[in-house]
Amino acid sequence: MATPIPQHILDELTDVHLPREMAPPPLNEHLEIDGIRVPVYRYPAVVLGSGAAGLRAAVELKRRGVDVLVVTRKLFWGTSAFSGSDKQTLHTACTKHRGDDFTKMAQALGGGGAMDADIAYVEAVGSIGAFAGLKYLGLPLPEDRFGAVLRYQTDHDEFGRATSCGPRTSRLMVKVLSEEATRLNIPFLDHTTGMSLLKSGSGQGEKAAGLVLLNRTNHDNPYGLSVVLSPYIVLATGGPGELFRDSVYPKNCFGSLGLALEAGLELTNLTEHQFGIGTRRTEFPWNLSGTYVQVMPYVYSTDADGTEYNFLADYYRTTQELASNVFRKGYQWPFHATRTLNYGSSLVDLAIYRETRKGRTVWLDFLRNPQPVPGDHPFDLARLDADVRAYLENNGALQATPIERLKCMNPLAIELYKQYRKDITREPLPFNVNHQHMNGGIDVDIFARSSLPGCYAVGEIAGTHGVTRPGGAALNAGQVFGQRCAAHIHSQLKRKPWASETPDTLERTLQKALAWLNRNVGNPRGIALDDLASEIQNRMSDHAGFVCHVGEIPAALDAARELNRRIAREGVCINEPRKLSEGILRVQTALLSEAVLAALDHYVRQGGGSRGARMLCAEQGSQAPESRLGILNGYRFLAEKDTHKQEKILVRYDPEQGMRISTRPLRSIEDTGTIYFEKNWGAYLTGDIYP
Ligand SMILES: Cc1cc2nc3c(=O)[nH]c(=O)nc-3n(C[C@H](O)[C@H](O)[C@H](O)COP(=O)(O)OP(=O)(O)OC[C@H]3O[C@@H](n4cnc5c(N)ncnc54)[C@H](O)[C@@H]3O)c2cc1C
Repeated sequence: MATPIPQHILDELTDVHLPREMAPPPLNEHLEIDGIRVPVYRYPAVVLGSGAAGLRAAVELKRRGVDVLVVTRKLFWGTSAFSGSDKQTLHTACTKHRGDDFTKMAQALGGGGAMDADIAYVEAVGSIGAFAGLKYLGLPLPEDRFGAVLRYQTDHDEFGRATSCGPRTSRLMVKVLSEEATRLNIPFLDHTTGMSLLKSGSGQGEKAAGLVLLNRTNHDNPYGLSVVLSPYIVLATGGPGELFRDSVYPKNCFGSLGLALEAGLELTNLTEHQFGIGTRRTEFPWNLSGTYVQVMPYVYSTDADGTEYNFLADYYRTTQELASNVFRKGYQWPFHATRTLNYGSSLVDLAIYRETRKGRTVWLDFLRNPQPVPGDHPFDLARLDADVRAYLENNGALQATPIERLKCMNPLAIELYKQYRKDITREPLPFNVNHQHMNGGIDVDIFARSSLPGCYAVGEIAGTHGVTRPGGAALNAGQVFGQRCAAHIHSQLKRKPWASETPDTLERTLQKALAWLNRNVGNPRGIALDDLASEIQNRMSDHAGFVCHVGEIPAALDAARELNRRIAREGVCINEPRKLSEGILRVQTALLSEAVLAALDHYVRQGGGSRGARMLCAEQGSQAPESRLGILNGYRFLAEKDTHKQEKILVRYDPEQGMRISTRPLRSIEDTGTIYFEKNWGAYLTGDIYP
């Protein structure tokens, strides 16, 4: 950095403290059911989850005068509070220099296909309010001296719409939003897991009516079974970090897509994810994007005997090509099959994948420059591809070693690992390629409404993204739809003020939950939770990961179905009270894994090819990556078909018929150029803009 940064500033941006507790809700009501007492809460709106998206929804609701309860598994667990990268990115319309064009931004958001045009436009336009609100609450987004927010280019971003507060942008978002929630006196039911959705009515009249909960601090009954009754439920429980073994999510991130499947909600784009390099979840899960690789550390592997391998030298033809592609992983971070071609940057990920399959550990060493390709020149800053050299030159980062270059470009990136007792100025960092994001999720409209009236989804649990997403678009989408769902719920409550109702389904739903708990707690025949976790995660990482052999998908799907049949037959074994919620969430994850595999199987049967972050390998594939040592025929892959970009795959679970798969064309958007002030003002004033 041009200006040296004092230690206390580095600390403020990396060692971010969050509130330890939030005010609990008052409890005035109990229900007797099958001889146990169940606490009952009643609120006009409930948000499940306290990540950046859920907090935004809660704050926006309360600011509009809606009494909202936040229910969360643990304050402040989750991806927003515990994940990041070298510069964790927020992607919003560009507010510097000549500004931006929302239509173009929307096109860029949906550029990878399978994204609704109306959602993309809403995310583009809404990004201004989303980030202005965060700035107003004190999020330290960097500015120049004229007040324009500093920007840079990131993955799938030709324009340069990215900005960042440093490695911990999302944790800082959680901080400012939770401080605002405290100011607004929003109650939080902490240590509480959403077990199932409570619905009322039937057929076309079916709607959300509340949530069945397990609250570890409630001792009214042995399981902590509780219920919240509300006509408006916002699911904001994040992504399925426990779905894959190779995962850079923090531990214990389950999300609740399984809960959504059980409730019969429509899910979409479950085939779409992001995978990329990061440090392992068994140590400290963190993305190794941006400057971590732009400084070109030495990438090598070791075997069980400690023998070192300069394995990337088997893939790239020259040292310059090798080093330049390590650099490019900085802003081409997610794996993409087509980037394995022509010695592109995703060949790095594929090489790492093959290396780890040999049982080797892969390392990043910031003390050494890349080692040469046999027979070629040694690494030299004067011999780099033009774009790489220009970037380093522009940032004054032409120091002799990677760690010196990192100190110059981003000292926060070093500081961050130090806090987790990894000093990258002294020792190398083990890493691999991991599952990092679920692009799909609950299918929603432009107000975050799911297929179940009264139930909304925001943040990573919502399937708002397409096949690809620009880096930072996830955090933006959570903020935009946090606002959108709040505005919609508020409009509905203005039309029909809240009057608490007790649905006639309540007793039956609670009895079902109680029966599940009675059956599985201390169940000697049940599947052990650790076995359940490893069976699901190994299957997903080995047969449905970023390198996926299409011939293996049907067997993986059969095995996932059989696992769910076994769970139905034998149950699971929850052998201690603190494992109650884990038991439920692992079972829901088993259902989700079947749904993902069913969607993938459908996609491949329709002739689907490699897209987004998944390389679909098959003998008949039309393209194959090439390495210095020859064509990698084992990784020959199917090419994507353009027609698949125009539709979304939907999955709905039916207990009788299993996973029901369908497709729908993308939603389009009217010509927004025909929207004028006087013509459209009335619809705003009367609330007609909210369906
Ligand atoms: C390493 C890494 C780096 C990333 N970098 C970026 C980036 O640079 N830019 C970007 O845009 N995105 C990035 N992402 C993705 C982004 O961080 C997440 O998509 C986003 O933070 C999700 O926010 P959320 O509020 O939806 O969920 P979370 O922050 O995960 O919050 C979920 C909340 O729900 C609670 N919860 C979960 N299940 C239940 C349940 N059943 N009952 C009750 N509560 C529950 C949890 O305790 C938590 O409070 C990154 C992700 C990772 C893993």
